[in-house]
Amino acid sequence: MEGLGGTGFVTIRAVNLAIAALLLLGPGSQPSAAESAAARAAADRYPVATGSRLGGDENQVRFILDLTHKIDLRAFTLADPYRVVVDIPQVTFKLPARAGETGRGLVKAYRFGLVMQGGSRIVLDLTRPARIDKAFVLDAAEGQPARLVLELVAVDRDTFMRALAVDSKPALALATPRPAISAPGAKGDPRPIIVIDPGHGGIDHGTRAAGGDITEKALVLEFGLLLRDQIEKTGKYRVVMTRTDDTFVPLNERVQLARQRQAALFISIHADALRRSEGEAQGATIYTLSDTASDAEAAKLAEAENRADVIAGIDLSHEPGDVADILIDLAQRETRTFSLHFAKALVAELKNVARLHKHPLKSAGFKVLKAPDVPSVLIELGYVSNKEDLKQLTSEAWRTRTGRSVVQAVDTFFNTRLAGTSAVRR
Ligand SMILES: [Zn+2]
Repeated sequence: MEGLGGTGFVTIRAVNLAIAALLLLGPGSQPSAAESAAARAAADRYPVATGSRLGGDENQVRFILDLTHKIDLRAFTLADPYRVVVDIPQVTFKLPARAGETGRGLVKAYRFGLVMQGGSRIVLDLTRPARIDKAFVLDAAEGQPARLVLELVAVDRDTFMRALAVDSKPALALATPRPAISAPGAKGDPRPIIVIDPGHGGIDHGTRAAGGDITEKALVLEFGLLLRDQIEKTGKYRVVMTRTDDTFVPLNERVQLARQRQAALFISIHADALRRSEGEAQGATIYTLSDTASDAEAAKLAEAENRADVIAGIDLSHEPGDVADILIDLAQRETRTFSLHFAKALVAELKNVARLHKHPLKSAGFKVLKAPDVPSVLIELGYVSNKEDLKQLTSEAWRTRTGRSVVQAVDTFFNTRLAGTSAVRR
């Protein structure tokens, strides 16, 4: 299995297919994501990654992952930013929380985790272009565990891009749409659909707190599921989740899901963090989409949130360019008005039950808010870097209260829309 630099996949879906094919050959069944106990038991059946290390310099690097079993792998490169992606069947990572945060030589940092049920991924950020010289898995032998070995060698950008162009061609044809993530309600059900979008997932942890033990992806999933239950309980709306488990979903697919289901509202859930040097901030903030960020903090946050696809090893080179963006902008004007209306309703409700940021209503260029025809907001519930906020974010009582006030804001939004749009369009 040497010289895998020539193996190319363009989209995550293509990779998913490849992993699904690998899995068909393997023993055991996939875990039910809804039942965490069952999932945990099933997780024990997956190979375990027990250690990882990097050696080398600016010209050559070797990455090693210790494993309890030998597995198959596919490795490929991505440009802008330069990354190496290694796709493997689902693996349970038992590595230190901070593993991969600092790199060595050619490798700036690396991440690992689920990209789908049944499939894990390792993404290495490179300091400069490189080619995959070797990628293979060694059997356990002489007291040594099975080992995944990846060797990278620095090349110039032209060489890197040429290899990429050759790699990319056959993979395009493999892309198939991901089936709808959840499809509640019968056809003809007139109730509006609300999409709840817990941010991040799988390989993309989002922000972290408490030394890495508390992740944004877990916090926002718990809140999202609770909010789903609260909204469904009203009987007035149908809810579609972009994810209900710890799986990565590309930003674009989150937007597409809302559009395909003709959702009336899209609510993305996140929890922010600040570095120590950036001072102390607290409270919830509601974001809407804009071309120009309302302030520097909003711009920085949007940039961080938009990195989700880079983090997960998605190829961004096929994203629409500036012309398509302008068309979307034109279509968006009315939708933006509705988005802002809902954002204001949220602020009005949340200020009664939750701490709000001192400027609670902001806007910036969040990719996940770009559906031209679905009013969309992004809620940053609070700062995991702030002790008080973190206490609230992890409190069942606070979540229930906050969820209820989001439901109130949803009611206000739809009541105003049904009563006529004149009130909204001021
Ligand atoms: Zn986030």
